[in-house]
Amino acid sequence: MQCFSPVRPEPGRRSFLLAAGAGAALGFAGLSGAAHAQVKVGGLSVARNLVPAENIEQAGVQQYGQLMAQARAKNLLVPEGSPQAQRLQAIGGRIIPFAKQWNPRAAGWKWELNLISSKQVNAFCLPGGKIAFFTGLLDQLQLTDDEAAMVMGHEMAHALREHARARLAKSAGTGAALSITAQLLGLGQTGDLAARAGTQLISLRFSRSDETDADLVGLELAARAGYDPRASVSLWKKMAAASKSRGGLSFLSTHPSGADRIKVLEANIGKVDGLYKAAKRG
Ligand SMILES: [Zn+2]
Repeated sequence: MQCFSPVRPEPGRRSFLLAAGAGAALGFAGLSGAAHAQVKVGGLSVARNLVPAENIEQAGVQQYGQLMAQARAKNLLVPEGSPQAQRLQAIGGRIIPFAKQWNPRAAGWKWELNLISSKQVNAFCLPGGKIAFFTGLLDQLQLTDDEAAMVMGHEMAHALREHARARLAKSAGTGAALSITAQLLGLGQTGDLAARAGTQLISLRFSRSDETDADLVGLELAARAGYDPRASVSLWKKMAAASKSRGGLSFLSTHPSGADRIKVLEANIGKVDGLYKAAKRG
């Protein structure tokens, strides 16, 4: 089932920006994620400090823009008025106000969410708050809103917890360090790191511990937004089943769906269930 419609091409009008201002009204501004966190996760990686946050966010925004331009040129961006795109926008709109609890930089991000018409079972959120879902993820797994919210929370958590920034800092080694130093000293090469980072961001593989971190932070983000944390378990069971029957899911190539992952999520549902129920009541 594809919901892509080739009619009504409106270049530049199909993506929608998500308002992130609601969080301020909730009174969370200025407090760290740790102060509110129900799930137990560590601090942000110290290694990430090697790469300035602005650089990695700039790379995320730049690469996202390129990718969306390509999708638009191929008529693969699902129009924002379509039911699937509206559904995702609603989910994002509910989760985003809680993002800055985990990273104050997120208050300044221009969140964006696009749905790409593709059979790929995939989704990502690049540094700077640039989210993309593929229709294959929603359609082939028949995701409920709660399950789609778990994917979105997980992907947003990778960006909020600066996993790409840390990974790049750790893997780029001396070359990147020199390049950054050159930039800081005003010796040129300003686009170099962004360009190199940009080629890696979307296909970046995170470590197991980054994945667990994103699972837990995503679980809490989605629960605070009123999405049932039990959906995290049904989501990964669906992923595993789809992988068995069809194999080669692109999302699973970077997100192994093991019994361990499900066990950790199950063990954490109780920690965020109160948040979910309070959000539902509110
Ligand atoms: Zn992940």
